[in-house]
Amino acid sequence: MLRIQNYLNGQLVPPQAGRYLDNVEPATGQVYGQIPDSGSEDVAAAVAAAEAALPAWRALPAEDRGRLLVKIADLIDANLDRLARAESQDNGKPLSLARVMDIPRAASNFHFFGTAAGHFATEAHVQEGVAVNYTVRHPVGVVGCISPWNLPLYLFTWKIAPALAVGCCVVAKPSEITPATAFLLSELCIEAGLPAGVLNIIHGNGPNCGQAIVEHPGIKAISFTGGTATGRHLARTAAPLFKKLSLELGGKNPNIIFADCDLAAAVATSVRSSFANQGQICLCGSRIFVERPIYEAFKTEFLQQLELQKIGDPLEADTKQGALVSEAHLNKVLDYIQLAHDEGGTLLAGGHRATVPGRCESGYFLEPTVFENLPFDCRTNQEEIFGPVVTLTPFDTDEEALMMANSTDYGLSATLWTRDLQRAHRVAHQLHSGIVWVNTWLHRDLRTPFGGMKNSGVGREGGLEALRFFTEAQNVCVKL
Ligand code: NAD
Repeated sequence: MLRIQNYLNGQLVPPQAGRYLDNVEPATGQVYGQIPDSGSEDVAAAVAAAEAALPAWRALPAEDRGRLLVKIADLIDANLDRLARAESQDNGKPLSLARVMDIPRAASNFHFFGTAAGHFATEAHVQEGVAVNYTVRHPVGVVGCISPWNLPLYLFTWKIAPALAVGCCVVAKPSEITPATAFLLSELCIEAGLPAGVLNIIHGNGPNCGQAIVEHPGIKAISFTGGTATGRHLARTAAPLFKKLSLELGGKNPNIIFADCDLAAAVATSVRSSFANQGQICLCGSRIFVERPIYEAFKTEFLQQLELQKIGDPLEADTKQGALVSEAHLNKVLDYIQLAHDEGGTLLAGGHRATVPGRCESGYFLEPTVFENLPFDCRTNQEEIFGPVVTLTPFDTDEEALMMANSTDYGLSATLWTRDLQRAHRVAHQLHSGIVWVNTWLHRDLRTPFGGMKNSGVGREGGLEALRFFTEAQNVCVKL
């Protein structure tokens, strides 16, 4: 049985109190490993190691730090199969998805920020003949990175890489539900020769380990991705300690299909944006609004394509839908399906737990589920379900689509499908979403700002935004 260790001061060590948590494989429902149940004493040791490593790490030329990060990226690429398999087993996602998305994107996070470090420039403000002001961007110091279970290595590295690139040292905690690839990353960091203490990966649950990271006075900034309720709690803890905070939280994203769209492309991508990773991507479009003239045609094709979404053992090559991440999460999603019935929705597809015979017969599988005839403002259409459940709703005007799309407390991403260029820009600008995709979904450019409006978060990750977040700006004014 795999027993994960903490990565502390360059070494793999057990938790100080010797306590472990069970790690369950979602596709089988069986315990297959153990992870450290770390507490504040482990976090304190990690902060001490990071503080000790900080002076040398921040003094290293950016190019040298970058070179190490690129080396880690190369090692992730070289270990693609092992990492993808571990991610699939730990999370329940199809191995095929982990191979093309999670792991390659984790490698590109390290590669992108490793090379970005050498291009990061600061501003100067010249008052001709009077003074020159220039900005110095110092690394914030020791920072905390806390990530969720849905895209484990992908989101973990999205935070760690920019922090390391600017010269911060990191105490990081992956989700206790999906710790495996973070552990494998520790091994790769040792192999790459990352100096001891620069990155420390401490495993454990939120209330003990995560809370200790947020509360520790030595940690100057927290980059967090997770649920909105956890984010609110975190903000309450961190605000009086005056820590910098970046919060990437939940979503309830609209997918707006106009009648003039390329229907085949809109349907195919909407199936993906509804059910990829079992609907457990914060950017999944769970509310599909379709302009009335093509509502029936879209519905028919969407339901037809759904039949191709084979539910199966995540390790099999042709599986499109794996297992949900845990029994608790499966039950939460099933409760929402019951709620959709109670609110008067018409079930068009799915709605039940699925059984995969053989090795996976006790796994947490759920049929891709589609409802219609639900009001835009009911709970099913307002609350984040974070599973393979979507609703279809017709609309008649741009204004109505925008009103419904903007009606939730969330504002992470939105997708719209149209061939009308002006409408695309006009509607995009009126959507209260941090990210808008037009005629595409999940398209990625690491230079762009990433994050949400309203209850979907505070701050932005990605590109310069991330590099700036992990630095403290200082203005130096020189009289001429
Ligand atoms: P979660 O909030 O339960 O947990 C996220 C992380 O926070 C975990 O590592 C957890 O251990 C830790 N944590 C929990 N309590 C804590 C505390 N008191 N102090 C410090 N850390 C604590 O979220 P989850 O269930 O793992 O992930 C699903 C959520 O993440 C969904 O709401 C989803 O929308 C959101 N998400 C957002 C984005 C984004 O970029 N906006 C991306 C992916 C997921």
